[in-house]
Amino acid sequence: MTPADYKHAVALLKKYSYHYYVLDDPITTDEEYDILYHQVVAYEGEHPDEIIIDSPTQRVGDVPQDKFDKAQHLSRMWSLEDLFNRDELETWVNRITKVYGDIRFYCEPKFDGASLNLIYDNGALVQAITRGDGVEGEDVTQNAKTIQSIPLTIDYAGRIEIRGEVVIFKEDFEKINEERLRAGESLFANPRNAAAGSLRQLDTRITASRRLVFMPYGIGFNALEIKNLSERMEWVYALGFRNPHMTHLCESAEQIETFYHKMRIERDNFAMLLDGMVIKVDSIAVQDELGYTVKNPRWAAAYKFPAIEKLTTLRDVILQVGRSGVVTPVAIVEPVDIEGVVVERSTLHNFDEIERKDIRIGDKVIILRSGDVIPKIVKVIASERTGNEQAIPRPTQCPVCGSELLDEGALIKCQNMGCEARVVNSIIYFASKQCLNIDGLGDKIVEALHSAGLVHEVSDLFSLTMEQLLSLEGFKEKKSRNLLSAIAATKGCDCWRFINALGIEHIGEVASKTLCGAFGIAFDRASREEILALEGFGGEMVESILEFVRVNQAKIDHLRNILQPIAPVKVEAIENPFKGKSVVITGSMSVPRDQIKAILESLGAKVASSVSKKTDYVVYGEDAGSKYDKAVELGVRLLTESEFRAMCEASESAPLSDSAPTAQRAAVKIKNSLFD
Ligand code: NAD
Repeated sequence: MTPADYKHAVALLKKYSYHYYVLDDPITTDEEYDILYHQVVAYEGEHPDEIIIDSPTQRVGDVPQDKFDKAQHLSRMWSLEDLFNRDELETWVNRITKVYGDIRFYCEPKFDGASLNLIYDNGALVQAITRGDGVEGEDVTQNAKTIQSIPLTIDYAGRIEIRGEVVIFKEDFEKINEERLRAGESLFANPRNAAAGSLRQLDTRITASRRLVFMPYGIGFNALEIKNLSERMEWVYALGFRNPHMTHLCESAEQIETFYHKMRIERDNFAMLLDGMVIKVDSIAVQDELGYTVKNPRWAAAYKFPAIEKLTTLRDVILQVGRSGVVTPVAIVEPVDIEGVVVERSTLHNFDEIERKDIRIGDKVIILRSGDVIPKIVKVIASERTGNEQAIPRPTQCPVCGSELLDEGALIKCQNMGCEARVVNSIIYFASKQCLNIDGLGDKIVEALHSAGLVHEVSDLFSLTMEQLLSLEGFKEKKSRNLLSAIAATKGCDCWRFINALGIEHIGEVASKTLCGAFGIAFDRASREEILALEGFGGEMVESILEFVRVNQAKIDHLRNILQPIAPVKVEAIENPFKGKSVVITGSMSVPRDQIKAILESLGAKVASSVSKKTDYVVYGEDAGSKYDKAVELGVRLLTESEFRAMCEASESAPLSDSAPTAQRAAVKIKNSLFD
């Protein structure tokens, strides 16, 4: 790096920081920022006299905005030194253990959100301040008071600063962006920006509507006598703050590395985004001795996770035609490696979204791949445009059959029922796991069967013969026999699979199960009123079923005749407080909500998604929002997770006899294993 490169790099980092911290609208990925930052650190290490005074390495990042009153922290807030691999971890740990011997390190998740410092005095929350430049931040007390996981009072009379990260759950982030897309507003690039942007709203009502969550990670000014950080954090949790339940005391770099890998694997199961693990010296006395650099504590470091967001270029957009004729644009991007997976494609949802995000071929884009979720383009870097980018036109003709497309705004559809893509995709769907689960009938084979003229619709599968299959390339006797038996084995399938496999628009697995539970295999005889009365069924779904039945009655009868689906046998639940009751579950629990739902259903309860006068119980977890409020308003009985557990356990006091139906005994077994 030359001196000129260094100056340029510092200027660029400052520009990135301004967009990231002040506007909550980054123009590059964290990874790109971090690479450049570390080049600057290296240069400054070799040329200490050339350090630019406001280089990002010399200051805590945020710049307080004018729109809020400024406020001073009682004691300084800091940034963290980053570690990216095991070597860096070992160097960091050795630097400390060399002087202090065998000490313990407290490890906890690094929450990706916005820092907040809460000042309590005399047991009451008196001020909430963003990190700002570490000395002075923005006074966001009124906004902080709308965050349910921030206690307004604590059982401690002294003056104290509780520090933590304000985060947003991943699913709430998706919802906010969907709303913003509909309202024509710019999208938040990631949950971190959404949390920071939501915390710094002049209109407190907007903050309140965003379901922010406060995750405590430390204590600032205090007069506590507790000598270890781990014990201090237990004390903080006991005051009523949220406990991340993913902390561990480690005694060596090796143990830290092991715990880091565990957390990396678990990261997708967290409701909020984690961008690493923070390692802190546990002893407060050693922390005090180690002290601080201009920017970071010497007793803490952030061991970063590999990036899930990467910068890439949009090369092309191709069109896919689904079984219902909907034409979906798919982005082809310059291949990038995200956590060991080479990403080349990304969903673009629909053409309205392309227009609203103003995505053009040739654009530099930020692509996100988190867990098993399909990669998506979260942001276009419009500032990097050269002028050669091309707009993506709305298609007017089906890319597969050439027929004219119906443009309904968000959806563009091929209306030709005989379009090869529609036929092939509906057969693939019919054979898929969530439908009839036909082993050996994957995409390629369906395409081969269709292009050989052997299968034009799903029912043709059932008249395939050995000779026909043997005439296809790559089909030998064993493969042909296996496929024929897999197809034959679908006879007598579960009723819900039959309904789901029909491919009725808006009717997926859950709705198929509900229809099947209510009407059995004769779901197509149910009236509009009967279907509408089912939990979770709205007008659009009901009309879709009725219309499908009207047009396809003969097809349904024919398939039912072939498949002979079997309706579930209803098992009477044991007597218990939830039997026959309507229950709503809200907030986060110690186990996934689906598991609580499965227990309730096994006990004969109906689990509803919204609270009404008909609701008997609302089981609520942490950060329960509007459903909780509605229950209070309507006087519905509220149960915490532990009250719910206690009631479940009480219902089991009469042991099940050996002759109790198997499904019921299995349900009790699940319940026991969950609550052990
Ligand atoms: P940081 O976010 O890497 O680490 C410090 C912060 O982590 C603390 O202030 C605190 O808010 C938070 N934190 C979360 N969990 C914590 C825990 N358990 N204990 C302690 N702190 C915890 O540092 P920073 O200075 O806020 O930001 C620097 C990072 O921000 C960079 O590494 C980069 O990835 C990103 N950044 C990106 C851009 C961009 O344009 N994409 C620009 C500037 C900064």
